[in-house]
Amino acid sequence: MPKLPLPPGSTIGILGGGQLGRMLALAAGRLGFDVAILEPEVGAPATRVAAHTVVGAYDDPTALAALAKLARVVTFEFENVPAASVEHLTALGVAVAPGARALAIAQDRVAEKTFLNEAGVATVAFAAADTAQAAQEAMASLGAPVLMKTRREGYDGKGQRWVEHAAEAPVAFEAVGAKPVILEAPANFVRELSVIAARGRGGEIAVYPLAENHHEKGVLRRTYAPAKVTSETADQAERIAAKILSGLDYVGVIGIELFELADGRLLVNEIAPRVHNTGHWTMDGCEVDQFEQHIRAVAGWPLGPTHAHAQVEMLNLLGKEADAWAKLAGEPETRVHLYGKRDAKPGRKMGHVNRLRPL
Ligand code: AMP
Repeated sequence: MPKLPLPPGSTIGILGGGQLGRMLALAAGRLGFDVAILEPEVGAPATRVAAHTVVGAYDDPTALAALAKLARVVTFEFENVPAASVEHLTALGVAVAPGARALAIAQDRVAEKTFLNEAGVATVAFAAADTAQAAQEAMASLGAPVLMKTRREGYDGKGQRWVEHAAEAPVAFEAVGAKPVILEAPANFVRELSVIAARGRGGEIAVYPLAENHHEKGVLRRTYAPAKVTSETADQAERIAAKILSGLDYVGVIGIELFELADGRLLVNEIAPRVHNTGHWTMDGCEVDQFEQHIRAVAGWPLGPTHAHAQVEMLNLLGKEADAWAKLAGEPETRVHLYGKRDAKPGRKMGHVNRLRPL
């Protein structure tokens, strides 16, 4: 275990070289750290702003040993890092944050909802099923319709299907990949919100104002933040964040996706044990943004203030939309963030803009 707080001039390791890793690396650089990225793909976005890159698979022991030699504090930018890799790094004496438990829970929708309910956090009713027949049987008690999702490796609405009648469950089970699934009761939400929060090495917690999120084709399109909410809703979100962070003995930034019901109750949809797309507004709307906050937390520094100083509309730039960079850069209210990706495939997140108004 390295001595904390980690002094400037030290190197922080990041598993994953995508845009989240890039924005983490830029924030780390501002605080005087170097960054080492472990990433399978040559030339990935984060590697081009990092002092060191180890090219290799996330579960390659040689690559993990090379990262451990460069960095005694390591974090990750996506939740499908193998939990065994985190355990391997920990065994090499590296302080990995958030830890293996948060990662393992976030990787399995059943473990996630079970943890949340045990921590006193409300979710939709759910059931687990490993076979088509079990899915059909589970619907007898859960009712219809249900949203069937693969337990693992689902993201941005992939691997999901509504099932209207129990008799259709076996067909749906095959359609999502014939893998273990979770069946979820419908959340009759009025809005999708999220809360970004952080917990430091000493257990201190900082929570950002709520964000309101709009998706298109399962992908985040826009975030409005701070969301217009009552003080009761804001308090509820803070309590939820505190229960989750403390329950996981978490270190770092977490993204918590919420459903707001008509009666004002908040249900947690899912948790992301990392910086989160719905927190990109904080880069220009808050005193200390989610990326710097995450670096502060994992390095054992004091957490920074989370107050908003602007009203922000965050818009993801998908595919060719990022080609409008010159026009966007010419708008005085718009802050442009581009990820340096070379291949603008349709729907790919190429960057985002934050449009600012006074609070
Ligand atoms: P997820 O992959 O769990 O983030 O789900 C993707 C999207 O599907 C969410 O942002 C919601 O719009 C919708 N969704 C997920 N779970 C439910 C549910 N139980 N009831 C209604 N809508 C849902």
